Amino acid sequence: MKKLRESTKFMTFTSQESLDPADWDSLREQGHCMLDDMIDYLRALEQRPVWQPIPDLVRASLREPLPRAGSELSEVHQIFMRQILPYAVGNAHPGFFGWVHGGGTAVGMLAEMLAAGLNANLGGRDQMPVELELQVARWMAALFGFPDTASGLFVTGTSMANMIALLVARRRALGPEVRRQGIGWGNRLVAYTSSSAHGCIAQAMDLAGLGTAALRTVPVNESFEMDTTALEAAIVEDRAAGRVPFMVCATAGTVDVGAVDDLAAVSAVCQRHGLWFHVDGAYGALAMLSPQLAGRLDGIQQADSIAFDFHKWGQVPYDAGFVLVRDSEMHQQTFALPTAYLRRDERGMAAGSPWPCDFGPDLSRGFRALKTWFTLKVYGSDRLGEVIAATCALARYLAQQVAARPALELMAPVSLNIVCFRHRGVDADSLNAALVADLQESGVAAPSLANINGQLAIRVAVVNHRSGERHIDALLVALEELAQARLAAQ
Ligand SMILES: *Cc1c(COP(=O)(O)O)cnc(C)c1O
Repeated sequence: MKKLRESTKFMTFTSQESLDPADWDSLREQGHCMLDDMIDYLRALEQRPVWQPIPDLVRASLREPLPRAGSELSEVHQIFMRQILPYAVGNAHPGFFGWVHGGGTAVGMLAEMLAAGLNANLGGRDQMPVELELQVARWMAALFGFPDTASGLFVTGTSMANMIALLVARRRALGPEVRRQGIGWGNRLVAYTSSSAHGCIAQAMDLAGLGTAALRTVPVNESFEMDTTALEAAIVEDRAAGRVPFMVCATAGTVDVGAVDDLAAVSAVCQRHGLWFHVDGAYGALAMLSPQLAGRLDGIQQADSIAFDFHKWGQVPYDAGFVLVRDSEMHQQTFALPTAYLRRDERGMAAGSPWPCDFGPDLSRGFRALKTWFTLKVYGSDRLGEVIAATCALARYLAQQVAARPALELMAPVSLNIVCFRHRGVDADSLNAALVADLQESGVAAPSLANINGQLAIRVAVVNHRSGERHIDALLVALEELAQARLAAQ
């Protein structure tokens, strides 16, 4: 860490007229110092523990009254370096395998700085930042075989993207009056997803006023993919009972095991019954960038909407969720407001309608498009596709290592980049839960837990472009040692 010269005090030189510095040179020096620290951090990530528990003193150190007087920028930066940075969850680290977290890149970090400096508000108006978002949407439409009239919108994450898609589907099912009258007879609407779907689908049903009971959870086959025969049977049964099926949410890359529903089969069912076909492709949809993997998503081209995250497999820093909707008019009619202060014009800054705020509930919106555009431009989509394929190859490597060790057993087929396995033992559930916590606290590797058919498994999701075979090996060595210690103590 660089130490600033005593003379470069920031606050001391803060201008009286604004929050800008009176002395821009001292800001420049401090800024370079902060940038250097983050570059050093990324460069030497591997020398750090993946995660470490927050010491009580560190946790307590933040608790103070609202600071009425300011501090030196350099001092606040030191607090960040000492008390905050070391105790983050560690998903940038190559040994991080928990949940499905992306690793981010230095390029994304720098783009975020540019975006923050510009401080653009992407709710709307005639500006190049909005054009950039539209360009990313056109790229995604092309990638997924959607018409170039499709609409795309950056949101926080796939939870929000799924909800937006569900609201568009609800608007299609109930017509424009749903926006004034509420759901009315819509309490008969039912949607379908698989028992392996992410919980945010049920939450979206709740938030949309349809209720979680109106979401049918279709069983999955032995590969954890939606049973499309059972799906069709449930639709027919609901119709016969006077309910109104309106939407199917398939998953491309389930959160537990990385299963991909048979999207072509789901699409065919949706077409036969006139239902909205949505794909939750939170992390899996971007497999489309890899020629080796794209075939796994066959049928996604027929979707009415797709939700996915650039911040997972796309390696863009948090957050960068995205929703793509085939019918942009229906999408716009679900959210656009006739508000006077959002009046549009043919010229001036109020031109360029429709605006992003017409396609979702957010009016003030950050420039998520910039870090995504930078990532796609700098690395190119081929390279990102290779990174995605490499994470799947690592998962296969881990599965082989598991199969070669009699003490370990695989708990689910490896479809993409997720491996669920466990250590054998008398009370395997508590042993493996303890081992996952042990591993996380060791700082060597950080997997998470999954419940597979009622049994706990160690779940390793390889998402980070920095992860390699040596990190998988380190996880296995640590696991073996920790398991031996636990079994010896029994
Ligand atoms: C991560 C994930 C989500 C939630 O996405 P967020 O970006 O965390 O909101 C939804 N579905 C699946 C399959 C996921 O993997």
